[in-house]
Amino acid sequence: MVDKEDLSFKVSQITGVNIRECYQCGKCTAGCPVGERMDLRPSVIMRMLQSEDAALEEEILRSKSIWLCLTCETCYSRCPMELDIPKVFDYLRGKSYSEGKVNSESRDIVSFHKSFLNAVERNGRLHEMSLILDYKIHTWNLFQDVVLAPEMYSKGKLSILPERIKDRKGLARLFKYQFKKRKS
Ligand code: SF4
Ligand code: SF4
Repeated sequence: MVDKEDLSFKVSQITGVNIRECYQCGKCTAGCPVGERMDLRPSVIMRMLQSEDAALEEEILRSKSIWLCLTCETCYSRCPMELDIPKVFDYLRGKSYSEGKVNSESRDIVSFHKSFLNAVERNGRLHEMSLILDYKIHTWNLFQDVVLAPEMYSKGKLSILPERIKDRKGLARLFKYQFKKRKS
């Protein structure tokens, strides 16, 4: 019987990825560029989801792997069943975050995600300077990579003022919708 509270059921329902179709060939894991740094490899996460075991599901939500994923889609392109693992990981990240289960070693990555989204939400475009400042304030990594700034500025890679899109209301609606979706 299908348990509607089960994580794999929710993943399948929201992402459209049928977890049960994974037959553990391991091609996703073999091609993942950050697989060696993950605590749970992509194919292992798929197997754990299939188990429908609450303790394993909890382990996934508290793992580093979901935050290390680069969304490069190598796993997706190699999967013989065309299972969209990056989409699954995106859902898992949202759930891990909203339930306060982010791995303690992944907090800087989460801060980067937040700073990135804050910068886009403010202007509708990415403004690198706002992103860097927001990230440094939240992580206290104040001097990390700071020596790169003058060269980037001289090459026109950093602008002082942000560019803004005109449709600010549309942007606000988009972020409101995304926020609601992530909470579901
Ligand atoms: S490549 Fe696809 S079928 Fe193979 S283990 Fe990964 S998710 Fe499962
Ligand atoms: S999308 Fe994520 S899990 Fe898939 S290969 Fe890239 S880094 Fe690995």
